Amino acid sequence: MSGGETASGLSWAFMGGFPRSLPAENTLPVAGLRNVMRILDDVEKGRLRRYAFIDCHACPEGCVGGCLTVENPYVARGKAIRLGQRLPAGPATDRDLVEQRYKEGAYQMDEPLAARPLRPLASDVSSAITKMKERDRILASLPGIDCGACGAPSCHAFAADVVLGETERELCVFSWQRELFDRIEELARLVNLQKQTDGGNR
Ligand code: SF4
Repeated sequence: MSGGETASGLSWAFMGGFPRSLPAENTLPVAGLRNVMRILDDVEKGRLRRYAFIDCHACPEGCVGGCLTVENPYVARGKAIRLGQRLPAGPATDRDLVEQRYKEGAYQMDEPLAARPLRPLASDVSSAITKMKERDRILASLPGIDCGACGAPSCHAFAADVVLGETERELCVFSWQRELFDRIEELARLVNLQKQTDGGNR
């Protein structure tokens, strides 16, 4: 660390840490893509109006549970908490600098975000039905945990992207993990078979 770190800044790495550094009351931390989607669904339906701030983490437990954390997420969280106990609690942010940069437009987007239009699987009904079946077949072979590690927000979206030729089936990390285990099992089976054959020939 380079200095200037605070416990509240470090706590952003896990669920519930971000709201701790905010003056806002009625905050709602949520982690895990599926839970986040449910909460955002409730927001859209107007069910969560009492919350002033919703702290959403796609990864389980927050960043410490992300797919790029090489440590066990609970161990990583424990380490971050212990480290935070040794750091000062207060904010290290230079508010004047932040306000100046805000006025300069440093935190504004150059262009408004446009929602991506819904993409049909095909322009004619017959091909769309064929592709829909293919998408459902791919979806049935996926783990269905909506982890987001492939870059798609859900397994359903990933399956649609595969059918549209925008990604490859192998990019689901769990699929190639399963394939790897299958190959290891097959290799072990062949080695055992070879041992039995060698034993029978003695
Ligand atoms: S397709 Fe695989 S990597 Fe993508 S969200 Fe589903 S389980 Fe995760």
